[in-house]
Amino acid sequence: MNNYKTDVLIIGAGGAGLVAALNAHKSGAKVTVLTKEYPTRAQTSMAQGGINAALGHAGEDSVEDHIQNTLKSAQGLANEEAVRLMCNEALEAVAWLDSIGVPFSRTKESKIAQRTLGGASAPRACYAQDYTGLKILHTLYDRAMVQGIEIKNERYLLNFITNKDKHEKSYACGATILNIRTGEVETYEAKSVIVATGGYSKIYHKHSTNAKGSTGDGIAAAIRAGARLSDMEFIQFHPTALKNSSILISESARGAGGYLLNSKGERFVDELLPRDQVARAINDQIQAGEEVFLDIRHLGEEFIMEQLPQERKLAKLYENVDPVSELIPIKPVAHYTMGGIEVDKNSHTKLKGLFAAGECANHKVHGANRLGGNSLLELIVFGKQAGENAAAWAKKFDNTIETGEQTISAQNFVKGVKYFTNQIDFYQKHQFMGNIFYNNAGISKDEMGLKAVLGAVRQIQKEIPFMGPKDKSNIYNTNLVDFIEFGNMVELCEIILVSMISRNESRGAHYRSDIPNPNDMAYKAHTITWKEDGVLCADFME
Ligand SMILES: Cc1cc2nc3c(=O)[nH]c(=O)nc-3n(C[C@H](O)[C@H](O)[C@H](O)COP(=O)(O)OP(=O)(O)OC[C@H]3O[C@@H](n4cnc5c(N)ncnc54)[C@H](O)[C@@H]3O)c2cc1C
Repeated sequence: MNNYKTDVLIIGAGGAGLVAALNAHKSGAKVTVLTKEYPTRAQTSMAQGGINAALGHAGEDSVEDHIQNTLKSAQGLANEEAVRLMCNEALEAVAWLDSIGVPFSRTKESKIAQRTLGGASAPRACYAQDYTGLKILHTLYDRAMVQGIEIKNERYLLNFITNKDKHEKSYACGATILNIRTGEVETYEAKSVIVATGGYSKIYHKHSTNAKGSTGDGIAAAIRAGARLSDMEFIQFHPTALKNSSILISESARGAGGYLLNSKGERFVDELLPRDQVARAINDQIQAGEEVFLDIRHLGEEFIMEQLPQERKLAKLYENVDPVSELIPIKPVAHYTMGGIEVDKNSHTKLKGLFAAGECANHKVHGANRLGGNSLLELIVFGKQAGENAAAWAKKFDNTIETGEQTISAQNFVKGVKYFTNQIDFYQKHQFMGNIFYNNAGISKDEMGLKAVLGAVRQIQKEIPFMGPKDKSNIYNTNLVDFIEFGNMVELCEIILVSMISRNESRGAHYRSDIPNPNDMAYKAHTITWKEDGVLCADFME
């Protein structure tokens, strides 16, 4: 029996999924959470720098300053109402995390400690050493366990199930899932669904700080099911990843006074400008033949061990340098995807009954460039909203749920891809795609380069039937999962490139060297993409 029923089905057990689960559960709904890995391994665990809230514990600050910093960094593409809501609720969000046991670092007066991240006018990021995301995620997971929320691991979302109501309007009512342990397709019927599957930076392959699973699965499934995506061209590059491994060295290192130096030992940029500007300045140095380093030696061993112990460990382990006495070689890599599933002010997507939260959603609080510390905040504020609203939607649900055909189609898909010929190695294609994206659709791009990458992606789309998993087995077939993830990434690549090519201007993280200035008259608007009968459509909307 592979048919399961719940009220609110949540795909993803990172910060957003778990906050949504806790709040849907609190609202009285039966909740089921599915994740393709284990909750404690979600990318949220990698967040280091902190979560923003204008508590003013380390210097004067105000909610209004937080709002203004966020709007400035977003460069005209944020929704002010959403930003105001997020920044206003930040204080309560951090107080709630504190109350459920997140071990925030403290000041001498026992207040939650705060530090400065790029683009912030005050020390605003609340942190737990440089393990902030890990501590938050583990506490949320612990909380979900205590509440008895059902969480099923190693369940991979294939597609959302949709039906049509009496007015021929589509609604989401479940999902088809690959049980990675058994290889069977399971069907989950639900009165509402929340997608919280994270971002898509792993398209850049090794040129990304992200977890292996950040392949945009939920976003690809959402557009296939009838939801809309927005701002997919806005991809943030983090200035300081380790040069050889792309592992992140947190912005808190610069916040604490770290310098950026070129091979001549010169500082060349204000280290605390927003990420898009710092990443471009570093890229310019690298293009001019310089190596770039992060220097935190002057902060001293005691400070580094107290505030940045993970950064020291990572630099030693992956770059073979000890930041206490040596420079850290760095480069900018893909880090955060501002675009995602278009949601309204209730976290509801265009597809009724489908809600979205976290990095996979576009609540329009980051616009063209996210501020460090605002993503963890977004997970808490909008995860809560999505959980409460999905529970309310489930309560009112009075439609039928018919899953038969869509289950069969998912079963056929899983069987079918195993017959693909595997003449072309898709792992190599992913690496290739990552390289061409990094070089031509990365920190700096132009129309010619973008069109060349689009041509390559369309060729890869044609070659997919000649790829496929080598492993034809059912049980724990991770080769099959990798292949399905690859398919989702290729689907999103086309959407990203079409959006990048359509935006004939530079704005925030979207920098076009052929058109280096913003054009407010034409492009102070969001790119919207959707599919009609499988065909990609795009437009700009205010
Ligand atoms: C190295 C690093 C440091 C960062 N530091 C900070 C910071 O200091 N402050 C800050 O605000 N932000 C930071 N960020 C950004 C922030 O951590 C992420 O944006 C955020 O954690 C995303 O949370 P999420 O819940 O949306 O997704 P994730 O944490 O990525 O969780 C996604 C979940 O969805 C599941 N999933 C995905 N696809 C499927 C599928 N097909 N089927 C089933 N399940 C699926 C995954 O298994 C996972 O459980 C950092 C990011 C990185 C990479």
